Amino acid sequence: TGCSLHVLLAEDHAVNQKVAARMLERMGHTVGIAADGRNALRALQSRRVDAVLMDLQMPEMDGIEAVAAIRAGEKLTGWHLPVIALTAHAMKGDRERVLELGFDAYLPKPIRAEELRLALEGRVVRDAPAAG
Ligand code: MN
Repeated sequence: TGCSLHVLLAEDHAVNQKVAARMLERMGHTVGIAADGRNALRALQSRRVDAVLMDLQMPEMDGIEAVAAIRAGEKLTGWHLPVIALTAHAMKGDRERVLELGFDAYLPKPIRAEELRLALEGRVVRDAPAAG
């Protein structure tokens, strides 16, 4: 799209952080990193963020709790921050489940650059593959 976003990456795994951050930077975006949900919420209070990539499984506060807190806060503001779930184990039905939890889209890990780009453009990435 050519537009530069500030993306908050909430991911506890160091290698996954690096890979995703590099992809985002190559697309021309800037990246903030939080290693758990609590730090992600703190980061959202300290600066404007255009989109969040949120790992579901993190210590302290997981992605599910964090997106619930974000959506609860938005009931007061009317704002809607795009939050994309990162899931380690893609299974059939994941997409529906994460949308119900308040996410806007989901990306199965390992993340592919093209899917990440499409997700940031607000499109449905791909249907969950069958388990296994
Ligand atoms: Mn994790």
